[in-house]
Amino acid sequence: MSKSIELARPEIRKLVPYSAANYADGLLRLNANETPWPAPGGPAGSGLNRYPAEKPVELTARLAEYYGVAPADLLVTRGSSEAIDLLIRCFCTAGKDAIVICPPTFGMYRVYADVQGARVHEIPLEAENGFALDADEITRNWPEDGKLLFICSPNNPTGNGFATEQINLIATLLSGRALVVVDAAYAEFGDEAQTKALLESRDNDNIVVLRTLSKAFGLAGARCGALLGPANIVSMMGCVMPPYSISTPVTDAVLACLTPDARAEVARRCEFLRAERNRLAIELAKLPGIEQVYPSDANFLLVKTRDAKRCQQLAEQGGVLIRNFDRDIPGCLRITVGDTDQNNRLLESLADL
Ligand code: PMP
Repeated sequence: MSKSIELARPEIRKLVPYSAANYADGLLRLNANETPWPAPGGPAGSGLNRYPAEKPVELTARLAEYYGVAPADLLVTRGSSEAIDLLIRCFCTAGKDAIVICPPTFGMYRVYADVQGARVHEIPLEAENGFALDADEITRNWPEDGKLLFICSPNNPTGNGFATEQINLIATLLSGRALVVVDAAYAEFGDEAQTKALLESRDNDNIVVLRTLSKAFGLAGARCGALLGPANIVSMMGCVMPPYSISTPVTDAVLACLTPDARAEVARRCEFLRAERNRLAIELAKLPGIEQVYPSDANFLLVKTRDAKRCQQLAEQGGVLIRNFDRDIPGCLRITVGDTDQNNRLLESLADL
C-alpha cells in the first residue's frame, strides 16, 4: 500500500465505485438495457450490441505480464493521455494544488492541468547540459502546492532519457510530498528495463509509470495505454474512469498484438527504428544548415538548425511534415524516424539546406 494515496483529493479517495450490470455465463442478459441484435451494418458476430467487461480483466492481465507487474498494479487507459488527465484530476484540487513540469517537455501535462484548474510550476531542463534534469532545484525548491512531478523519460521533444538512479533519488527526496509520474511513452526505443527498475525500487512507493501502445506497438489509432504503480493508487483511479471505457474492438486489437510472435516483431521493428535513427542522425549532421543533432533514446530526433522555418518548408516541399519547436527551443525541429524510404525522402528534401 502506497502512502502517496494520502496526496490524492480527499473526495476522490472516498469515491464509491459505480456498480455495473454483471455478466454470468449461460444466463440471458436482460439487465443492461442493451438491444438483442448486433448493429445493422456492423461486423457480424462481433457482439458490439453488448457492453464490454466493466473492467478489461484479460487485457489487464496480459499487459501486466508484458510490463512485468502484477495485474492489480496496472490500470488500462485510453492512451497514456487519459492516464495524465486522470492523475491530475485525482491528485489536484482545482485552484489549490499544482503540478511540476520540466520544459521543454510534452505539452499535454499543462493542458490537462489547465482543464483541471491546477497550477503549473516549471523547473526547466538544463539546455546547456544536454537537457538534463535539474534534480537539485526540483528537490530543494519543491513548491508547497506541488502534488505531481512529471518526468518524461525519454523526453519529448528532446529525445533523451534520464537515469533510473536520478529519478529514484528525486522520488526519495519528494516522498510524502509528491507523486512522481514517469511518462515512458518511448521506453521501447531506449532503456525499456527502466520501468521495472523504478517500480521495484524498495525505497519509493511514490512512483507511477505511464506506458502506451501508441508508439512501438503501432497502435496509436486504437487508443490504449497503461498506468503502472501501487495497487491502491491504481484502484482509486479506476473508480474515476467510466465503466466499460475500454471498447471491445480496442481490446481485441491490443490482445492480438500481445502474442509472442507479435511481440517479437515489435522488438525487431524497434531495433530497426533505432538503427534508422542512428543513420538519420549521421546523415542530418552532414547537412550544412544543421547545427546539432541531439542524442535520442526515442523514435525521433531533435535537431538544431540555422533556420528552422526554412528547413520545415524544404521538408514540406519534398512532401514531408516535420515539427517545428522553434518557439520553445530556438532553431529546433523534431523529426520522427520513419522507414528507410521515408527517411531518404526527408534527407533528399533537405539536401539544399
Ligand atoms: N506522453 C508522451 C511523452 C507523448 O509524446 C505522447 C504522444 N505524443 C503521449 C504521452 C500520449 O500518447 P497516447 O495518448 O497516444 O498514449
